[in-house]
Amino acid sequence: MEELELINKKTMPLLPLRGLSIFPHMVLHFDVGREKSILSLEQSMVNEQLIFLVSQKDAKIDNPIEEDIYHVGTVSKIKQILKLPGDTIRVLVEGISRAEIIEITQHEPYFQVDVLEREDTSIKDAESDALMRKLMESFEDYVKLSNQISPEVVVTVSDIEEPGMMADVISSYIFLKQAQKQELLEAFSPKDRLNKLYGMIQYELDVLRIERKIGVKVKKQIDRLQKEYYLREQMKAIQEELGDKDGQQAEIELYRKKIDKAKLPKEVKEKALSELGRLEKMGLMSAESGVIRTYLDWILDLPWSKETKDNLDIKNARDILESEHYGLKDVKERIIEYLAIRKLNEGMKGPILCLIGPPGVGKTSIVKSIATALNRSFVRMSLGGVRDEAEIRGHRKTYVGAIPGRIINGMKHAGSKNPVFLFDEIDKMSSDFRGDPADAMLEVLDPEQNNTFRDHYLELPFDLSKVMFITTANNADTIPRPLLDRMELIEVSGYTEEEKLNIAQKHLLPKQIKEHGMKEENLEISEAAMRDIINKYTRESGVRTLERRLATICRKAATMIVEENKNSIKVNPKNLVKFLGTPRYRYDVSEKKDKIGVVTGLAWTAYGGDTLPVEVSVAAGNGKLELTGQLGDVMKESARAGYSYIRAHTDILNIDKEFHKNYDLHIHVPEGAVPKDGPSAGVTMVTAMVSALSNNPVRGDVAMTGEITLTGRVLPIGGLKEKALAAKRAGINTIIIPVDNERDIQDIPDNVRKKLNFILADNIDTVLKNTILKG
Ligand code: ADP
Repeated sequence: MEELELINKKTMPLLPLRGLSIFPHMVLHFDVGREKSILSLEQSMVNEQLIFLVSQKDAKIDNPIEEDIYHVGTVSKIKQILKLPGDTIRVLVEGISRAEIIEITQHEPYFQVDVLEREDTSIKDAESDALMRKLMESFEDYVKLSNQISPEVVVTVSDIEEPGMMADVISSYIFLKQAQKQELLEAFSPKDRLNKLYGMIQYELDVLRIERKIGVKVKKQIDRLQKEYYLREQMKAIQEELGDKDGQQAEIELYRKKIDKAKLPKEVKEKALSELGRLEKMGLMSAESGVIRTYLDWILDLPWSKETKDNLDIKNARDILESEHYGLKDVKERIIEYLAIRKLNEGMKGPILCLIGPPGVGKTSIVKSIATALNRSFVRMSLGGVRDEAEIRGHRKTYVGAIPGRIINGMKHAGSKNPVFLFDEIDKMSSDFRGDPADAMLEVLDPEQNNTFRDHYLELPFDLSKVMFITTANNADTIPRPLLDRMELIEVSGYTEEEKLNIAQKHLLPKQIKEHGMKEENLEISEAAMRDIINKYTRESGVRTLERRLATICRKAATMIVEENKNSIKVNPKNLVKFLGTPRYRYDVSEKKDKIGVVTGLAWTAYGGDTLPVEVSVAAGNGKLELTGQLGDVMKESARAGYSYIRAHTDILNIDKEFHKNYDLHIHVPEGAVPKDGPSAGVTMVTAMVSALSNNPVRGDVAMTGEITLTGRVLPIGGLKEKALAAKRAGINTIIIPVDNERDIQDIPDNVRKKLNFILADNIDTVLKNTILKG
């Protein structure tokens, strides 16, 4: 069957090319200097970035008219535009499809054309298959002989299944005369194109073989240096002949100088020079030259041997850590230890620290301070949502638009080979069919192998062994096990009200005042107002929202200073509403009413502790147990266990024996911002059910946590400290906890512990006795 053709009409600006052609699927960059062409580019940029590129019949003509340009060219998309000194613009374009001019609809100030777009939709048959195979064989020979195209290109090209596309891609790699390229462009039928290209490639192969023969002879006669000199001279002559700018050679020389100066390791330098050699041979205008240039730029930008000198002065480090952060005792101590050990033993490879804690507790910012204290540069990379190994390790150069992975990218930003490198959210990495990023991370973090880290794009080993890696996570449970084994965990827990107050007064407020261009004396927030901000406008473990609220106040204050000509603004609990609007959270113990079927539980999530309200209602029915809202599977199970417990103990609980036949129970857990699950809601659900079934209210000022067994025993739970902080935040003064958690009470900060009343329960009876109010 013959190929089908799809025909499409489009309108766009035209740009005449001098001595160049572009094929569909080809990426090319070239310089534009003619004013008319620049206008075409500008027009294209405001209109979908499409442009019709077509060659001039004679490259020497400066101001071509209709007769001077071919009729068939390529609809292309502008990918990038770069203004160079002088009025030159460098553009990067990608060929989209062949097209033929129907009419030039405008000649001045730039060409505008109507074109017919011709896409080849080929139907594959034995003939085209055979042609493709033949062509591929010749192309392979060509690559081997010419020595100018990297062998990976062959792999990429051989994966192409469309005959027309294969011809186009090969055409863009091999050396062809302008007229030949045009002939290929005008071959709309893919089969025709394959045939023509095959002929041309055969001829080129013959030429290459002869050249090679001559080359071998010449090589024997002149030694290497002489040969290089000779070749370079020859190339200059050829370039002059072809009318190429002197710039070309100058650019190559510039690269050579930079490579010499860059203090590259031996292997890297060799690779850079060999790439430069390829660039020189192929000329700066060819399709692949952009790829090589980008590659060389990457090599030159990386800190292969640049290192900052560590400041291991312990006192200085202590001062910086103390002055920039309140509290965080454990982290600071651990850092000081680390420095002390480094001081005693310079070459020592420290363990990788992992800061674990809810958001906004200063994990990121203390790592920044570590970098400052050590006099190292700082880079941060979030691993949240990274699921593809290539994001870490990069794509091979043969991919269009390939760049190195994020590690190498980070090193470039660091500008030195020994930065402090922070991996945020290492617990939020996932993996899919494209490879597991955790494997790549293992290599990065392993001191045994990270001195030769390999990025797919660079293809050269990069030394990461001097980097100080630190990671953060919200939850240690979801960190991939092998990574976890490599790290030393340091817990950073949520803050109490007192701590928040201190952080706000000493750090957050001064920082925000400065950022808003004010002076300390311009804005004063009273302590009572600050406590109100903490309790009524935020509900979090960390201080992120708190910082945002302070920023809001600063913005309003700055406006008042400017608009109302005031000098100093004072914020107190009375006028706080003016700055922040009505409070978002209620925080008054007396407001916690006793209600039937409503109980406050306590949960522990990756985001710190939180309250977990549970509501139960009873309606006449036939014994259904309905669960709605935010219940995970574990929570559903403990609801059912609680239900069974109640059925088995109706007599002591004073509940209708037949309730499971006469009533429907509905348990609802209102949606919160963070999903919660776990067995520790057991006692909460039983209490709510008993309250609803017995129609007795529950004390509103009590919160509870504990797992429950079918016999009513209360089992211990995790995260007591965070839960206690959450209870305090919510204005609760009594919490019921499993008796086995008694020893954890000492971890709760003093000022919170003193204000809370703890009830220890080993059995659900104790819980019910202390919470259900008998009517
Ligand atoms: P995380 O990385 O834990 O999510 P961040 O480092 O982003 O938290 O902290 C949020 C903000 O709170 C930052 O501006 C940080 O400087 C500030 N902050 C947090 N904890 C403290 C602290 N203990 N002392 C001073 N500032 C703090």
